[in-house]
Amino acid sequence: MGFPGKGLFQGMAVTARNFVGSYFDKELLTTIQYPEERMELPENSRSFPFLVFDKTADAMRCVACKICETDCPPQCIYIVMDRDEKGKPRQRPKVFDIDISVCMQCQICVEVCPFDAIKMDNDYEKSQYGRFDDLIEHLPDLLKSNEYYNKIKPTEAKGVDAKLKADAEKKAKKAAPAAKPAAPAPQSAAAPAAKPAIPDDAPFTPEQREWLAKYLSAAPVAAASAAPATGAAPPEAVSAGNWAWHDPGLGISQRMDLAKGASLADKLMAAMAQTDCHACGYDCRGYADAIAAGSEQDLSLCLPGEAETAKKLEDLMKEAGKL
Ligand code: SF4
Ligand code: SF4
Repeated sequence: MGFPGKGLFQGMAVTARNFVGSYFDKELLTTIQYPEERMELPENSRSFPFLVFDKTADAMRCVACKICETDCPPQCIYIVMDRDEKGKPRQRPKVFDIDISVCMQCQICVEVCPFDAIKMDNDYEKSQYGRFDDLIEHLPDLLKSNEYYNKIKPTEAKGVDAKLKADAEKKAKKAAPAAKPAAPAPQSAAAPAAKPAIPDDAPFTPEQREWLAKYLSAAPVAAASAAPATGAAPPEAVSAGNWAWHDPGLGISQRMDLAKGASLADKLMAAMAQTDCHACGYDCRGYADAIAAGSEQDLSLCLPGEAETAKKLEDLMKEAGKL
């Protein structure tokens, strides 16, 4: 049978038992003397994001694809891609800022990153005197080693390491058959180029044949270099292409304007985000070539380009009668 206020007395009894008991039993002590004492945090606790690098800060995993910047709900990430002296993207961030006064610690940036480049930290001691600029974390503040990641979240980091290792092995296996056929030996000064022969069935008179033979033996190198190419351009020449639209700073409509009149593969490439981030499994050129050649059917693999790129690729393939 209860009486009025019974619950109140029961609650006070529990508090009194914990208060007195905490002098004798540490388990009953629910507070600590922070900052002199610090609690050991559980592995899955999280504060703010940080960027992971392997071995040295130069080997950061982030390729500046901007997927996290686009998907961050409160838009507190700001990224600028690094470029070389010629203005070509270097697939790494020059600027990577996170405003931790805005970050809501949702971890979406971690979930969308295809490169395991951004992870949640456990460090919660971020207070600063300034309310504005002091709460913006810049690239050097954000970079932390994979060892650090393994230390604060050993189970999760171990899984990521195993996945990255398996991916690297898969990539190496994929690349291996391409490396098998021996490349034609480069022509060097020590090994003179073979003189081009005049085929027996070439439609020349004996006089023309004699003149041509003399001409070719007098200028074999010039003749060889002037001969029309019979095979495909070497892969280096293709990958070193200087495509006007290959700039992640341009909008899709500007890129498509620059690719007007170009081949289907070039137009497909111009529709991509130009970050060469490999989220699709290729660089932008490789993905475009694979779609144009029909060896890749999935048009939605360009994650930084999002739905806009997928739609444009679909339109281009339809226009070309390939869809
Ligand atoms: S999604 Fe990952 S790789 Fe892309 S910019 Fe963000 S952290 Fe870098
Ligand atoms: S944790 Fe959420 S709010 Fe914070 S940077 Fe990542 S996506 Fe943005």
